[in-house]
Amino acid sequence: MELRIRNLSKTYANGVVALDNITLMIPAGMFGLLGPNGAGKSTLMRILATLQECDTGSVFLGDLDVLDEKDAVRRLLGYLPQDFGLYPKVTAYELLDHFAVLKGLSHRTRRREVVDGLLQQTNLFDVRNQKLGTFSGGMRQRFGIAQALLGDPKLIIVDEPTAGLDPQERVRFHNLLSDIGDDRTVILSTHIVSDVADLCSNMAIINKGQLLVTGATQELIDDI
Ligand code: ADP
Ligand code: ADP
Repeated sequence: MELRIRNLSKTYANGVVALDNITLMIPAGMFGLLGPNGAGKSTLMRILATLQECDTGSVFLGDLDVLDEKDAVRRLLGYLPQDFGLYPKVTAYELLDHFAVLKGLSHRTRRREVVDGLLQQTNLFDVRNQKLGTFSGGMRQRFGIAQALLGDPKLIIVDEPTAGLDPQERVRFHNLLSDIGDDRTVILSTHIVSDVADLCSNMAIINKGQLLVTGATQELIDDI
């Protein structure tokens, strides 16, 4: 499903213009939102994820008015925020199972299939009974993706997921993301050019709340 953002603006109470009249079309597939720290990426991601209000503008996911029909959007959405909390004392299996219940997967056998499947997909099945507090940064991010994939969302938003990962973890994480991006819309925000170059067929660059350029990654990446 394509996402159409029109004239989106957001100014914080302290006067910082985080988003300055952004108009952007995000097609299905993997989309990279590239920009330095402070560019407005997290603000945009939170608005798209229905967790924050904008001042003006519109956002449509297919025919769905994202700013107006928040419940419907949330049912279609998987969101991995930049700094998501994990409960250190519970195991990966327990927490994912718990989120699956919250997502409405009430049937035990079916839930087990889904949770096991996601743990396998994110390469965490072997460590499913370890407490989350023992996880490395890469394992945490992969767990976050498993969580975001619950309910088979059509739109996935991941905010700066590779910040702080070492090169080996980054490669693993790239492989995981490229597997999930096939039949969905996945928006990846990052300040790392290679995240976008390796993974995203389309991209945009924002800085100081403004859209600088958008288009096919292949055509833009040589200029960066
Ligand atoms: P990022 O790493 O994406 O730049 P920030 O460090 O800007 O994130 O923001 C981290 C958190 O602090 C966010 O929840 C953001 O809303 C909040 N925040 C950032 N800047 C300010 C600010 N100037 N005043 C109040 N809250 C802020
Ligand atoms: P990015 O994710 O690209 O780092 P953010 O969306 O976090 O950018 O921040 C954009 C700008 O808005 C930054 O200057 C940041 O300090 C500011 N900002 C973010 N959250 C808040 C907030 N809650 N209150 C005030 N300023 C904020």
